[in-house]
Amino acid sequence: GPLVGILALQGDVREHAQALEACGARVVAVRRPSELAAVEGLVLPGGESTTIDKLSRIFGLRDPLRERIREGLPVYGSCAGMILLADEIADPATDLGGHAQQTLGGLDITVRRNAFGRQVDSFETELHFTQLARGGRPEKPVHAVFIRAPWVERVGASVEVLASVEIPAGAHAQAQNGRIEPEVRAVAVRSRHLLATSFHPEVTGERRIHELFIRMIRGEA
Ligand code: GLN
Repeated sequence: GPLVGILALQGDVREHAQALEACGARVVAVRRPSELAAVEGLVLPGGESTTIDKLSRIFGLRDPLRERIREGLPVYGSCAGMILLADEIADPATDLGGHAQQTLGGLDITVRRNAFGRQVDSFETELHFTQLARGGRPEKPVHAVFIRAPWVERVGASVEVLASVEIPAGAHAQAQNGRIEPEVRAVAVRSRHLLATSFHPEVTGERRIHELFIRMIRGEA
């Protein structure tokens, strides 16, 4: 299988390694530019995006990561990894020793961190997820685990929404034909070689999203 790196500065690296190996990939932890240079695809794991941002500079990986993303390296970011791939954060942390939180960017989206609020720090739900069906088999919903997850507030024209969740209609929701429509937020998106999910398929035994990513690396999806 393809050689897939996992950015191993902080976060749930081991769970992604297990998921990728189950999909037939060869897996390598990436902590140095030389390791990054060898991979055919890269996972940015869940964890804490501010910490990963800080460590990526300390390890001299920020510029090499940005360059490989720009050159078209397939990258999958889950949760904190989605935040790192986003071009824009609606509410970046500003207290990181004199500078605001930065992302690697590449994905034309705006994310909001910890978006689902304190009351629902973590939750699980069933998601309809497009692009997972293979060989005419019916698509089973994805059991998604959200842990202090971001959501996507804006998607650029190049970005496809693969899954969304309904959130309770806000106070300013527009009544349409007398009905208050629930608002939806994108929680899985793709733009060409870049894939991102707000949730953590690596913790539930769900393998189809990692499989989709491997197909993206092989140029089959
Ligand atoms: N809240 C975290 C962040 O802002 C993401 C949480 C996660 O990856 N489970 O980076």
